[in-house]
Amino acid sequence: MMPLVKRVLCLSGHDPTGGAGIHADIEAVAAQGGHALSIVTALTVQDTRNVRHVEPVAAALIERQLAALEEDGPFDAIKIGLIGSAAQVHLMVDLIRRSRVPLVFDPVLRAGGGADLVDPELQATVLDQLVPLVDLMTPNLAEARRFVPDGNSGGACAASLLATGCRNVLVTGGDIPGPTVLNIWFRADAEPRHFEWPRLDETFHGAGCTLASAIAGQLALGASMAEAIVRGQQWTQAALTRAVAVGCGRRIPFRR
Ligand code: PLP
Repeated sequence: MMPLVKRVLCLSGHDPTGGAGIHADIEAVAAQGGHALSIVTALTVQDTRNVRHVEPVAAALIERQLAALEEDGPFDAIKIGLIGSAAQVHLMVDLIRRSRVPLVFDPVLRAGGGADLVDPELQATVLDQLVPLVDLMTPNLAEARRFVPDGNSGGACAASLLATGCRNVLVTGGDIPGPTVLNIWFRADAEPRHFEWPRLDETFHGAGCTLASAIAGQLALGASMAEAIVRGQQWTQAALTRAVAVGCGRRIPFRR
């Protein structure tokens, strides 16, 4: 058999604008040199301004898709974005336990346009069952605070997430106003590492999915966590610099 290209299993929502979700994952993984296997967790109704509706995909269907892909060959990394139901969380937990490959989780809780995408009960299940198994979580500060409401800084939120067992947290600062964007990588056994990027004169749709998938692609190709975090950010910043308008709202990263 021919050698397999590095395969990243992406479990994400479908965004019909092509800016966020599974489109972002497929393009970002391909741009790193990997191949995305895509399982859609939810269908959405949205435009480039905001999300109007989320329709979860039945967990039983996802289970069959997973089984077919797993029989077909091994995964080199897994990326999880929007999660549609508690039943999906249970499937993901079982998958992570048996596959033992790097797992990047981009917690999609609220759209940039303001719509809530996950209810509090599902969020609690995610925190309790999935977060402890994650290699790298990539919340923005607002998402980190939703998981840790009494965390009064990114560092405090990250410490609480790391205490669950999650191994690395990259708190992104795109949602915090300021002349630059500060992303901070936290892990249990090392000092935080700061990454400062010029703030671009735009607001974006799909930046978080793009970054998380680029990092997952790098991990699948064999990069260390440090290399993947650096390269993923560099590539995403370049994609944001070349962002394109595909509708009336926010621009989407140019991922080719
Ligand atoms: N729709 C889907 C399927 C997503 O995964 C996301 C974010 O990750 C969004 C919408 C919202 O993206 P944004 O907050 O960048 O607008």
